[in-house]
Amino acid sequence: MARVVVLGAGVSGHTAALYLRKLLPSEHEVVVVNPKPTYNWIPSNIWVGVGKMEHKDVVFELAPIYKKEGITFVQAKAFALWPEGDEDDARPAVEVEHTSAGRDGEHEKLRYDYVVNATGPKLNFGATPGLGPDAGNTLSVCTPDHATEAAARLAELTTLLRTKKQTVVIGVGHGTCTCEGAAFEYTFNVEHELREAGVRQNAEIVYLTNENELGDFGVGGMQFEQNGYRTTSELWTESLFRERGVKAITGAAVTSIDPGVIHYDQLDGSHNDLEFDFAMLLPPFKGNDWKAFDRAGEDITGTVFAPSGFLKVDADYTPKPYEEWTAKDWPRTYQNPTYRNVFAVGIAFAPPHQISRPRATPDGVAVAPSPPRTGMPSGTMGKVVAKSIADMIVTGAPAPTHSASMSEMAAACVASAGHGFRSGTAAAMTMSPVVPDWERYPETGRDLKATKGEIGLSGHWVKRMLHTLFIYKAKARPGWTWIPE
Ligand SMILES: Cc1cc2nc3c(=O)[nH]c(=O)nc-3n(C[C@H](O)[C@H](O)[C@H](O)COP(=O)(O)OP(=O)(O)OC[C@H]3O[C@@H](n4cnc5c(N)ncnc54)[C@H](O)[C@@H]3O)c2cc1C
Repeated sequence: MARVVVLGAGVSGHTAALYLRKLLPSEHEVVVVNPKPTYNWIPSNIWVGVGKMEHKDVVFELAPIYKKEGITFVQAKAFALWPEGDEDDARPAVEVEHTSAGRDGEHEKLRYDYVVNATGPKLNFGATPGLGPDAGNTLSVCTPDHATEAAARLAELTTLLRTKKQTVVIGVGHGTCTCEGAAFEYTFNVEHELREAGVRQNAEIVYLTNENELGDFGVGGMQFEQNGYRTTSELWTESLFRERGVKAITGAAVTSIDPGVIHYDQLDGSHNDLEFDFAMLLPPFKGNDWKAFDRAGEDITGTVFAPSGFLKVDADYTPKPYEEWTAKDWPRTYQNPTYRNVFAVGIAFAPPHQISRPRATPDGVAVAPSPPRTGMPSGTMGKVVAKSIADMIVTGAPAPTHSASMSEMAAACVASAGHGFRSGTAAAMTMSPVVPDWERYPETGRDLKATKGEIGLSGHWVKRMLHTLFIYKAKARPGWTWIPE
C-alpha cells in the first residue's frame, strides 16, 4: 500500500488529489492537508469584492467531498519536510500543525511514499510597509474574507461619491508582484459598478502597476491577430483603459503606504506620492515558510527549496542573463531532482526565471513582474503529476510518465469588466504557450493562431459559466473529468 500526501487543496492540489483517487486502486491512500476546511474558487473573489457575489458563493466544505471520494482530509498547515525520514523512522514525512478545533496547534509527522506540494503562494503583505488589510492601509481580494471587506468599503465609497470626489487606486503593492490580471479585472469591475451606481463622474480611478507597459501581465505581453490586423496586448489594453477613463501608472514599485498615501518609485528614478481614498493592491507572492531536514535533523532547506520558498523541480535554475533563458528551462514533470518522490505544482514550484523582462530603478528597486501560474496551467500540472505518480505506484514506472511545460501549455484568462446578464462584459485572452518559445515561434514567441484577445458580453457569459462549471468539477460531481482544467 502506498500513501500519497497532497499539501494544499487549491486549484492544483485539489485537482491532483481527485485524479490520484480516481487513478489509484483503493488499497492506496490519498491524503490532503489544508489549513482551512473549505475550498475557494479564487477567480470569483473579484465578484465578491464588488458585492456581486457573497463569501458563501465562492467556497464549499472539503470534508464531505473527500469523504464521498475516499480521500483522507487533514485540516493542518504543513511546515517542514523530512524527505529522508528521521532518526526514529526512515519513512519520509511532512510535519504539519493542526488547525481544526480540538487539535489546534498540535504537531504531527505524516509519513508518505509520495508528496505533492501544492501550497500556492504565501500572501507576502509584509514585503511593503503599510500594505494589506490586516496590518496595513490597503484592501485585497485574494481571499473571500479580504474580498468581503473590500466590497463593504466599496459600498461606503459609493455613498461618499454621491457628494464628493474620491480617488480609487487599484493595482499591485510591490515591484515584484504577479497576478496583474486580477488587479486589471478588479479595476474594470469597480469602474463598472461605479458607473452603474451613477457616481463614476466623481471617481478618479488609477491603475498602479509594476508592468513596464500595459498588457504585459507578467508574460512579456502578447501579439495577436484580430480582424486581419496584427496587434499587441499593449494597444488592446490601452484602448480598454482609454475607453473607460482609467488612468494607468506603469513601471511602478510601491515602497510603502501611509494612511491615504501610496509611495512608489519608478524606473526613471522618481519617488512619487499618490493620495487615495480607496486602494486595493495585491501583495507579492512567496513560497510558504518551509524548512527541510535530512535524516539526522540537519537543515537542507536550500537543497529542496529556492530562496523564494518555492520548491525546486526539474527546471534549469542555472543563473543566466535574461536574454539567455530559453523555453526549455521550464519544468515538465514537476519532480524534485534530489528527492524523486517529492513534486510541486501550481504556484508552489520555483520558476526558473522571469518571463517579463526584469528591470530596476537607478536606486536598485526591482520593477520585475513575476511569472504568473494561473488556474489553467495549475490545474493541468496537478493532473499530470497525479497521472505520473499513479503510474509510478501501479506499474512501477521509474520516472514520471506525464509532462506539461508552461512553454508548451496554453492559458486562457477571462477578465470580467462588469457583472450582469445583459450589461456584463469581459476581456478574454488566450495565449499559447504561456512562456514564449522563440525557437518554435521566432517572430512573436507564441502561436499567432492560438493567441487571441476578445472583448464583449459573450466573454462575461463564459466567465460566469466557468464559475459554475469549475465549482461543479471541484465538487467531483458526475462527469467532472470531462470538464477541462
Ligand atoms: C483575486 C484573484 C483572481 C484570480 N483570477 C484568476 C482568473 O480569472 N483566472 C485564472 O486562471 N487564475 C486566476 N487567479 C490565479 C489562480 O487563483 C491561481 O492560479 C491558482 O489559485 C493557483 O493554484 P494553486 O493550487 O497553486 O494555489 P491556490 O489555489 O492558492 O491553493 C493553495 C492551497 O494551499 C493551501 N495552503 C497554504 N499553505 C499551506 C500549508 N502550509 N500547508 C497546507 N496547505 C497550505 C491554501 O490554503 C490553498 O488551499 C486569480 C488569483 C487571484 C488572487
